[in-house]
Amino acid sequence: MLCPGRRFVVKFGGSSVRNHFDSAVSFASRLWDAGEVAVVVSAIKGVTDALLRLAETRDGIEGIEALHRDFALRHGLDPSIFSRLLGELERSVESRASFPSEMAFRDHVVSFGELLSARAFAEALSAMGVPVVLFDPWEVIATDGNFGNAEVNLRETLRGSAPVREAIEEGFVVVVPGFVGGYLGLRTTLGRNGSDYTAAVLGDAIGADAVLIMGGVDGVYTADPRRVPFARPVPFISRERVKVASLLGMNALHPKATEFEVPILIGRTDDWAFSTVVGEADSGTPVITHRREGELFRVSVVGVDSVPGYEGESREFNGVRVVSFWVERHSLRGFLNSLHWALFGRRRTAPLAVVS
Ligand code: ASP
Ligand code: MG
Repeated sequence: MLCPGRRFVVKFGGSSVRNHFDSAVSFASRLWDAGEVAVVVSAIKGVTDALLRLAETRDGIEGIEALHRDFALRHGLDPSIFSRLLGELERSVESRASFPSEMAFRDHVVSFGELLSARAFAEALSAMGVPVVLFDPWEVIATDGNFGNAEVNLRETLRGSAPVREAIEEGFVVVVPGFVGGYLGLRTTLGRNGSDYTAAVLGDAIGADAVLIMGGVDGVYTADPRRVPFARPVPFISRERVKVASLLGMNALHPKATEFEVPILIGRTDDWAFSTVVGEADSGTPVITHRREGELFRVSVVGVDSVPGYEGESREFNGVRVVSFWVERHSLRGFLNSLHWALFGRRRTAPLAVVS
């Protein structure tokens, strides 16, 4: 069995919910067979963008409704599980005047993406005979009032998450919508890709053994594997280095998810493969990241002083050595691949260094 007796928080990203929902649900249920589980769910991929447009233009609710109805039907769920939430969403969109600010209104509207996907997840688990409790995220995750990019209030969240801890100890799987928090009775959101942050905070608050971040890629890679075919996973990487890599463009993990001591495992929903542990240990393998900056891309190598044969800008960023280069869009792929070759060669081999 999978790690018997352990307590996990497992988070599924939006593309996992959209493309690998059944696999995600069975993984959560298998973890529960063996131990304790709290599940954090992102909105179905594309829904958060649609909700942001809805808040802005008051237009497009039919598309969101249709998408969820199709989703339910595709997964053998009754579409009426979404009726109450979709009704509330419809009424919220018409009630801008009852919110203190545009930002508060927008966060309220956007919160429905995660509420809907978490509802589907809870229903699907329940249909498998797993006892589930679905929480309102604002009851668990307390934040400040910085709508759109709220910071978690740890002390309050520790209190808010006590019922989560109790429920999992009683044998329930807990489902918590990601990305959403609460501030003085209003809903807040934690910034784009914020569900990783929800999962890490929750893992910390309930004393989880590990937080599993499940998505389309099974780990932190030496470079973006969609652009660099020879990229390979980094087995162990420190929180500091992941944070810097995320701030410089890597999207395997939200930078704020690295602020807690609970170990984070990065896995792939599709086949339950895990290739990276984020924590104390660091295998020292350099990580190449890239990020668009204006017309150019900044390519950074995180964890080195220099790259042989390449002249870049070397500096320290949040205590980590980084070398950066600027390249144009049309040469990005070629540059990433040749830089990767310079650092790692062309074979898929073991990492450069062992855990120190
Ligand atoms: N649904 C939110 C977003 O699209 C949060 C997340 O997916 O983690 O940014
Ligand atoms: Mg992500």
